[in-house]
This record gives sequence, C-alpha cells and structure tokens, in this order.
Amino acid sequence: MYPKIIYIGLLSFLASSYAMAFPSLQLQTTRDTNRINKFEVKKGVYVDCVWVKAKKYYQIWSDQKINPYGFDPTQFKKVVHFQLYDPQKREYWAPPLNKIVISSHFGPRNGRYHYGIDLALPVGENVYSVFDGIIRISSYNGGYGNFVVIRHKNGLETLYGHLSKLRVEVGDEIKAGEIIGKIGSTGFSTGPHLHFSVLYQGTYINPMLLFDFSKGAKLRNRKLRLFPQHFFHVGNPYKITLKYKVKEGETLAEIADKYGIEVAEIKRRNRLKSNQLKVNQILIIQ
Ligand SMILES: [Zn+2]
Repeated sequence: MYPKIIYIGLLSFLASSYAMAFPSLQLQTTRDTNRINKFEVKKGVYVDCVWVKAKKYYQIWSDQKINPYGFDPTQFKKVVHFQLYDPQKREYWAPPLNKIVISSHFGPRNGRYHYGIDLALPVGENVYSVFDGIIRISSYNGGYGNFVVIRHKNGLETLYGHLSKLRVEVGDEIKAGEIIGKIGSTGFSTGPHLHFSVLYQGTYINPMLLFDFSKGAKLRNRKLRLFPQHFFHVGNPYKITLKYKVKEGETLAEIADKYGIEVAEIKRRNRLKSNQLKVNQILIIQ
C-alpha cells in the first residue's frame, strides 16, 4: 500500500510529538515486569498503519502505579501544548458521564488536597472514556476503589475512580465515548459518584482546564496549554505572572472557570470593584 519509508516517517513524527509532550521521558524498566509480558503479548497499538508494541510506544509503562514517570513538577518551567483531539485522524472527545452533577471540586478539602472532580450519579450509570487511548490500569485500591487509568494519544492521562464495575482490561484500546465501567461507591467514598482526574506525566491537573462542567462536561478547546502555574498545588515555586486578554462578550465567571479559580480571586488580584470587563483588558490570573 504505502512505501516503508512513509511508515518510518510517520512513526518518527509521532515519536517526536510524543517527546514534546513528555520531554523527560527515558526508557525505564518498571517493577511490574511479570504483568508487562502478559500485556506485551496481548496487545500492540496501531499507529498510522504501523502496529507497535504498546510498551515500546509508551516507553514508561506500569499497570500498577498511577505515577510511574518520576516527573518533578516543581522543575516545570515551560509551556506545553497539547492537541486534545484530531478529527482528521478520527479521534474525538466525549464527556465522562451522560449527566453532570458536581459534588466536589479540585482543590483543598478537609485539610487535604482533592486531586480531581467528583461527579455524583446513581450506581450503575455508564462511565465513558473522554479521549482515545489505551487502558493502562484497571484495578482496585483502598482509595479509588475500582479504578481505571487511560493513557491518551494526546499525551494526557485520565483516572476514573470508585467504579462499581470495570468493563475494560489493561491493554484494551479505547475510543472516546466508549464505556469503561459503571458508577459506584467503592474504595474511600461516601456515596455513589465518579472521581475524575486528569494527569500530565503522573501529576494531577485541574480537570476544569479541559472541561466546562457547567455545560455537561463540554470540552473547552481543541488545544490545551499547560503553564508552570498549573502545578502550583504540587509546590511549583516557579512563578510567572499569567495574564489574560479579555475577549468580546466574555464574563469574569467564564474566565475564572477557564482557569479553575474563583471570580473573587481574579477581582482581588486585579483590584476590580465590579464585574464589568472591557475588551482587550489585561487581567492577572496568577
Ligand atoms: Zn474525588
């Protein structure tokens, strides 16, 4: 069909875009070697006409550890760009649930940090993958109960916790909108809900950066930019002032929502007395 040279070209292109998203990736062995073999035999990943073994493609792989990457977010100094989905490759996105009811936000909670968003829904409701990817973990622990971690093609990972039923296995390829499990209350949970986390190199980021949960978990944008400020919750001391230029018709609430912070916080930082904004006004976000 296609000459071999194109295969190689595509693969090295993918490898380089992957390296951009994961600049510190190095080949590492993980502690789950007994299970990797099973995984390697079982599945590969079909990447633009080339079938590659998943471990080789992803380099660092663990079906046990949520964070096997060894990435230190306090050293994060650059902006990283992501293309979250790509219709040209028939890769799309989907909300994690059919109905969104937020029961807890990302942020400090009861003296600890809550590294995801809690979405309440009755036991048995479907939980969906938000992007295309491959199942990295489908397991149980005391905190998240039955949980799934999906490694996405866009360079991010998502975690789905407290499930009553797991519908996927490690190594399964998955498309956005496919069912991965059912809502439950397993693990450390006070009632039926989905705990939904987004991770970059094993570090949690605010899911609100990607999704507008006030509109049924609508994806905000096809692109995502991660700044050092997005890791301040893990103690990133690297301070750059993050500024935002107001677009026509935008409200303070929309801008606050976009960055997962409170309106009052933006008003305080910018010494705003009212909620009135002007087009092209510069706001300090962080
Ligand atoms: Zn939670």
